[in-house]
Amino acid sequence: MTRYAAPGTEGAIVTYASRYDHWIGGAYVPPARGQYFENPTPVNGRPFTEIARGTSEDVELALDAAHAAAPGWGATSAGDRASVLNRIADRMEAHLEELAVAESWENGKPVRETLAADIPLAIDHFRYFAGALRAQEGSLSELDADTVAYHFHEPLGVVAQIIPWNFPILMATWKLAPALAAGNAVVLKPAEQTPASIHYWLSLVADLLPPGVVNIVNGFGAEAGKPLASSPRVAKIAFTGETTTGRLIMQYASENIKPVTLELGGKSPNIFFDDVSRADDDFLDKALEGFTMFALNQGEVCTCPSRALIQRGHYDAFLEAGIARTEQILTGHPLDTDTMIGAQASNDQLQKILSYLDIGRQEGAKILTGGQRIEHDGELAGGYYVQPTVLEGDNRMRVFQEEIFGPVVAVTSFTDFDDAISTANDTLYGLGAGVWTRDVSTAYRAGRGIKAGRVWTNCYHAYPAHAAFGGYKQSGIGRENHKMMLEHYQQTKNLLVSYSPQKL
Ligand code: NAD
Repeated sequence: MTRYAAPGTEGAIVTYASRYDHWIGGAYVPPARGQYFENPTPVNGRPFTEIARGTSEDVELALDAAHAAAPGWGATSAGDRASVLNRIADRMEAHLEELAVAESWENGKPVRETLAADIPLAIDHFRYFAGALRAQEGSLSELDADTVAYHFHEPLGVVAQIIPWNFPILMATWKLAPALAAGNAVVLKPAEQTPASIHYWLSLVADLLPPGVVNIVNGFGAEAGKPLASSPRVAKIAFTGETTTGRLIMQYASENIKPVTLELGGKSPNIFFDDVSRADDDFLDKALEGFTMFALNQGEVCTCPSRALIQRGHYDAFLEAGIARTEQILTGHPLDTDTMIGAQASNDQLQKILSYLDIGRQEGAKILTGGQRIEHDGELAGGYYVQPTVLEGDNRMRVFQEEIFGPVVAVTSFTDFDDAISTANDTLYGLGAGVWTRDVSTAYRAGRGIKAGRVWTNCYHAYPAHAAFGGYKQSGIGRENHKMMLEHYQQTKNLLVSYSPQKL
């Protein structure tokens, strides 16, 4: 086991600045109203840096810078933009360990994951969109012998991006890489809970980007996010966050008839058919690992498999093994390389999870393991830790219907295939799902029957850059990842040309 030193302490590989202003036009700019807010680490609840508190004046400045930069950036060749993206990826790779520690300190997630997943995935994202951009082609339609319709991809111009706190660097990357590849300038607003690691990332790559192509305005949703999403000066709004906020974003955008893509909440089912327990030990072991995936990233994942549906034939045995496996999950210091669950991202989130555990108890759900806050002494005292928790109940309970966004799984049983699919689909959401079976026909029919944008079959929580990701129902509009994202950030220009010598 290695324990990384806390940022700013002796032996640390990361030192955060004591204050982060807004990044506008290639320079740090203090907030127009001169206000800052404190940014605590979830590891121990103590502030480690202060952050500019953005308002509409700051948003306007950032939009000025983005509008000044957009035409030049949009006119660069695909090869030049791809090369910038590749250089960002190379720089991140050279500083992978620092970025991983910075992200863990900011968000509370274990460094084991940031080293193996968050940062490598972010690096790959830049590389993927560098490649996808160079492979993108327009089209032409031959309308008759002398008339041709050409279709070109053009950048939108200046786009707004608003992101949540659960994967700060990766969520920024999911938005920035395709938007920049497509030739847009960006104004990005990080979540108020986790702005600092994005600025740490920026400190490593800022010199690779022309001034004004990426602008970062910090602050709260109502003060900085709303003026950005309501601005008539943005050509598109890309948002990731809660469904309730997504609804507001659509309202703001409708005032100016702006396109919106939304990545929202989820309550994803993870379905274990009973042949899993009759399969070989390796497969059963993999499925049990799949069951415990609800605790990955402290359950703060929009696709958290937060509803486990287990077929009656093996319900007791599978659940017993799942609980035993859950109890082996190592919780502890996020900067220990052995830790599997770190801290929840904020005190608000911790309180929300604890209140849902109470709601579950009041509804009659049975807590089979976990269910308590973990109060550490010493270095972690004051941090936001919760035990991984397995609840048993009924799919109509609130703990099965509402997003808890913590390391909590709600478990129920099903009788047969139709019961599994109808229970899985009995939700407002449709983001992710898991299906576990050795029967290929069951796997295929379940995958097609579940109303969700991503169905993992015999795996879970894999996020490759080239697989489309996004929601059905109230989980969102549009997709992220995959080369189709380039078109989410482009307009189609049609040139309809007559080469005929004849008069009209
Ligand atoms: P949130 O909606 O509270 O905040 C998200 C962002 O929106 C923040 O930057 C916030 O400041 C901003 N915001 C809040 N109110 C705003 C307003 N009125 N106008 C403009 N901006 C505003 O969500 P959160 O709590 O930060 O994130 C957790 C949520 O994100 C969960 O519901 C989770 O499922 C979802 N999520 C979805 C995906 C996905 O890809 N579908 C990925 C990660 C997280």
